[in-house]
Amino acid sequence: MKTAIVTGAGSGIGRAIAHRLAEDGCAVAVLDLNSDSAGRVAGEIGEKGNTAAAFGGVDVSDRGQVDAAIQQIRDTLGPPAVLVNNAGITGFKKFLNISDEVWDRTLAINLSGPFYCCQAVVPDMVEAGWGRIVNISSSSAQGGQQFMAHYVASKAGLIGMTKSLALELGPSGITVNTIPPGFVDTPMLRNSEEHGLLGGTIEQHADRTPVRRPGRPEDIAAACSFLCSDEAGYITGQIVGVNGGRNT
Ligand code: NAP
Repeated sequence: MKTAIVTGAGSGIGRAIAHRLAEDGCAVAVLDLNSDSAGRVAGEIGEKGNTAAAFGGVDVSDRGQVDAAIQQIRDTLGPPAVLVNNAGITGFKKFLNISDEVWDRTLAINLSGPFYCCQAVVPDMVEAGWGRIVNISSSSAQGGQQFMAHYVASKAGLIGMTKSLALELGPSGITVNTIPPGFVDTPMLRNSEEHGLLGGTIEQHADRTPVRRPGRPEDIAAACSFLCSDEAGYITGQIVGVNGGRNT
């Protein structure tokens, strides 16, 4: 049974990916800052007869916490073979109002977090001669997004890291890809809607989306499942958009 780590797996897209990888037969490490939600999701997966363990209270922007959690995962579930860097925060601010603190925190979670997680698991994957890394970026990094320069910069950085890592790790049997979701119905998106930050309601956006609906977390999980499979071994360094046709 392969060990898969999903960060930010207590909610939204990460939760759906954790469920899906467990259904695919992985032992899933449900890693999240929020201990309650990590425990809840690991429990849901267990109730379905699949394998998961919760690693809550882990801030991916803290290298020490990441290293300690991944050592615990290695000890309890086995060496990581799959890593999905999904944990992230969003933010809307006019460019001149982005403080140093907000800029640094956004980059720390959305970009340094995946950097720390990758550095912690790559040695296991190299030793096994097999690995799958999927970075959850954002469609906003493909086209830019007003009032989100900090967020978009962090996600564009993640796309760049994905491409470079794919070149470096390909010879070791490790693929590295990124899924930039667009407009997926999760607590993050609902929260943005409630604060009037979407420039319209989710339903209004859905009307302007080619497939005429918001994305579901399961849409991202399905693509992620494929990228983590043996069959996807010739796909690396790619940006696999899952966005209902909003970006092409
Ligand atoms: P979500 O519902 O807010 O879930 C994000 C999860 O990450 C939460 O469980 C959150 O924990 C956790 N998290 C936040 N900061 C963390 C940290 N420092 N360390 C560990 N875990 C942390 O969001 P989502 O919509 O599912 O988003 C998942 C990913 O998709 C994000 O990277 C996001 O940028 C990306 N994305 C989403 C959309 C969309 O339309 N929803 C579009 C483009 C990209 P707490 O509950 O404690 O906050």
